[in-house]
Amino acid sequence: MADAPSMDVVVSLCKRRGFVFQSSEIYGGIGGFWDYGPLGVELKNNIKQAWWRATVQERDDVVGLDASIIMNPRVWQASGHVDTFADPMVDCKSCKRRFRADELVEHKHEAESVHGQAVDIAGVPCPDCGGELTEPRMFNLMFKTYVGPVEDSASVAYLRPETAQGIFVNFDNVLTTSRRKLPFGIAQIGKAFRNEITPGNFIFRDREFEQMEIEYFVLPGTDEEWHERWIQERFNWWTGLGVRKEKLRIREHTEDELSHYAKRTVDIEFDFPFAGFAEIEGIANRTDFDLGRHAEHAGRELKYFDEESDQHIVPYVIEPSMGVDRCFLTVLIDSYAEEEVRGEKRTLLRLHKELAPIKVAVLPLSRNEKLVPTARRVWDLLRPRFMTQYDDAQSIGRRYRRQDEIGTPLCVTVDFDTLDDEAVTIRERDSMEQVRVPIEGLVEALREKLGGA
Ligand code: ATP
Repeated sequence: MADAPSMDVVVSLCKRRGFVFQSSEIYGGIGGFWDYGPLGVELKNNIKQAWWRATVQERDDVVGLDASIIMNPRVWQASGHVDTFADPMVDCKSCKRRFRADELVEHKHEAESVHGQAVDIAGVPCPDCGGELTEPRMFNLMFKTYVGPVEDSASVAYLRPETAQGIFVNFDNVLTTSRRKLPFGIAQIGKAFRNEITPGNFIFRDREFEQMEIEYFVLPGTDEEWHERWIQERFNWWTGLGVRKEKLRIREHTEDELSHYAKRTVDIEFDFPFAGFAEIEGIANRTDFDLGRHAEHAGRELKYFDEESDQHIVPYVIEPSMGVDRCFLTVLIDSYAEEEVRGEKRTLLRLHKELAPIKVAVLPLSRNEKLVPTARRVWDLLRPRFMTQYDDAQSIGRRYRRQDEIGTPLCVTVDFDTLDDEAVTIRERDSMEQVRVPIEGLVEALREKLGGA
């Protein structure tokens, strides 16, 4: 098995098989935006469902929320995003390309070794054309828009750069309507937008992406322990989805890397072929920063009455925050494998069954008209119960390969014996083992093999 596929291989598989397309491709695309095709949308939905099940459905202390993308702009003043959600950027005076100043640090070191003295970022030549760069300027990453018919400063609003704030501003609503006691959490899945200076590495860094965030409210003093628990919990979620442990790492943020709101942050990182270890999820101890700031800016108390101490307190918050798109890329890369079978190469995605876009493929041995009615009957039987695909084009071997390549765990083959014995063959993706089962017991047999996925 190849260790890690190159990004070209992954991108081309995604395009060829309908996982991910460039957004507005027929117009030349648009940087940092992607569309998810027929298989991509299934995989993405399965990732979201797996997360929702683990964080909301199976727990007794987390409830869900779906807040709006555009909120009162004061939210972003209170959260600090208007003032501080910015990256330093530099422009090339010749080719006009724009770079994140922190990404030029390596070039700075190079320039220093050439000149034998310290240079600032602006003294580094443009990595593309060698031209002169401007001084770094701060660039706010929030997308701006206007609400209503008038485009003036009073109607400015922002597309949310994270889903978290929708949770904080609803803290009181959820607390009173769901009658929760600390500790409890609120989970949300939704789009987020960041005008990244340098989007790239396929769907790793997008300008529009989807986040899955939990804000878990705890009594101050218990925050460090809950932080540890969530780090473990989240790490286990990733490995539970089949991501190999040795490809994951937990990394502590250094003091100067910590966000303005965080007491401690830990990233879960995956070993990407293009970048080495890079963040796929952040787990932060946000203290009482956000609730405190919103209380101050909105002029509303955002407190919890603790019966034990008989006091109103501002809870501390532990935030596990991850991106759906980065998770998508992670599971694709991690599950990709190439094998040699009887002198032929087979490419497969060993996706966790729960994540596989198609669970069962129905494959008549050929297009022979005698087989078709039975094959269609089997498909009709399975379609309401599993995500299926019917494929009768080309040789059976090629169709198995096609299903392997998109990660389908099970294929059901209808052959001429089926017409006599009312039985079909189930073929497994990873082992390629085949078993014969009666159509009557097929649904049960598939359910058992899929293990509830
Ligand atoms: P990075 O350092 O890579 O820019 P970040 O620290 O800004 O990420 P967070 O603000 O912690 O990211 O966001 C939480 C999660 O949201 C990340 O772990 C990542 O999975 C996802 N995410 C953040 N920015 C993007 C993006 N531009 N494209 C895709 N996913 C993103």
